[in-house]
Amino acid sequence: MNYTSTRNNRLSVSASFAIANGISAEGGLFVPETIPQTDEAFLASLAPLSYTERARKILPLFLTDYTEEELKAYTAAAYGSRFEGPAPAPVTPLHDNVSVLELWHGPTCAFKDMALQLLPHLLTGAAKRVLQGKESVILVATSGDTGKAALEGFKDVAGTRILVFFPDKGVSPMQKLQMTTQEGNNVGVCAIEGNFDDAQTGVKAIFTDAGVKERLLKNNMCFSSANSINWGRLVPQIVYYFSAYADLLAKGAIMNGDKINFCVPTGNFGNILAGWYARRMGLPVNKLICASNENDVLTEFLTTGRYNRRRPFHTTVSPSMDILISSNLERLIFHLLGNDSDETNRLFAALKENGEYTVSDALLKEIKACFAAGCCNDDETKAAIKETYRAHGYLCDTHTGVAVRVYEAYRAAGDATPSVIVSTASPYKFSKAVLGALTDGNFAAENEFDMVSELETLTGMPAPAPLKSLKGKTPRFTNVCAQSEMEAQVYGLLGIKD
Ligand SMILES: *Cc1c(COP(=O)(O)O)cnc(C)c1O
Repeated sequence: MNYTSTRNNRLSVSASFAIANGISAEGGLFVPETIPQTDEAFLASLAPLSYTERARKILPLFLTDYTEEELKAYTAAAYGSRFEGPAPAPVTPLHDNVSVLELWHGPTCAFKDMALQLLPHLLTGAAKRVLQGKESVILVATSGDTGKAALEGFKDVAGTRILVFFPDKGVSPMQKLQMTTQEGNNVGVCAIEGNFDDAQTGVKAIFTDAGVKERLLKNNMCFSSANSINWGRLVPQIVYYFSAYADLLAKGAIMNGDKINFCVPTGNFGNILAGWYARRMGLPVNKLICASNENDVLTEFLTTGRYNRRRPFHTTVSPSMDILISSNLERLIFHLLGNDSDETNRLFAALKENGEYTVSDALLKEIKACFAAGCCNDDETKAAIKETYRAHGYLCDTHTGVAVRVYEAYRAAGDATPSVIVSTASPYKFSKAVLGALTDGNFAAENEFDMVSELETLTGMPAPAPLKSLKGKTPRFTNVCAQSEMEAQVYGLLGIKD
């Protein structure tokens, strides 16, 4: 199977090429030319399998130029032992025929681990084929969570190096400690004087500098990208939609062929788009319910067909969903337009120039056949966390709280189809907001570790080991540099002398 670009449908490249390059030369996103199909027999065959085994049946449908041995080794390395508990993506009953798919049992306690544990391995396979075996260097500017998830994913993966820059004063104390104590022989971390934009601008300048590129080449290295539009981050996420269905089948909660809903807390549209691919592949999905916080650009788009980014940006208690441009939406639109890159180009040129676009009524009808959408504000999110804990004894984080709230409103409007709410972070990753929600703001702890302890005491639910074990660790990376010194830092961290 080959991949084409959302901005140039005459292009046809391998999965390895798409993953090694990240983004197409003309600025489009790589998408599969055709979408593989599955049937009920395939779903039944998944039910008795482990998560890793399920991944080995789904990934080869898209990654046709990877060998069976490669995918076997990669999935074992990614999902074999780095997740806490019995399964990487367990499904927990919540109430009636509603369950929660927990995607936060990985090393950084959030759903980005599901993809970032596998991507580095996919990248080394791709590099063998299309980068002539050069070492892949990943540069990341982070406002917190993605940087740590990337560090954990690339840690000690042969043939890769990872360097992360974060704004010295722009991340939480917990996030800073997570990054500065990072272990691994191929990792580097450096704080930048300035804010996230300064770090981002610095990374982009280095990434596109011909001189830097040449110097890396002399040392048999080249830049690759791990950002959220890489196909290698989307494809691992398709697996857990199938896995959740297979779990419900195995438990007898549904019959093979029964349709289910998924409600997904959404930011960049990556997670929910993976659900759409699963649906297109034949997974029996009724509706994909897109849940947003006060940044409700997607709610408006999925219900009216108008995407309008010219709106206030809200900082919320679910920060990973504070986004006004959901990049992965471009892939959905391209597919729904029948792989029409000219029309996709026209819409996204309008977004760039005017900050908005509107799709045709016919396209909106297709969107509404697959998607429902809703949004809520911080008070509603906190109320959902409190109520879910009170009524069902289930503790959820702020992002999942948005999904719970939006789902309950959707269900109340009449659709009682069995449903899965996708949970994207451990509640302990957002202890302050979760503790505040449960206690109406009346809690004693003042620093993050104390809040973790207080939340444990209050709920009796243990915090994940990777968060607890940070306490008392000594930072390994203590460099703080100016934006102008970033290039020198890169050479230093890579051990490049000439
Ligand atoms: C990244 C993230 C999201 C949003 O996922 P998208 O794929 O960007 O839609 C939601 N919740 C958490 C905790 C995240 O880290």
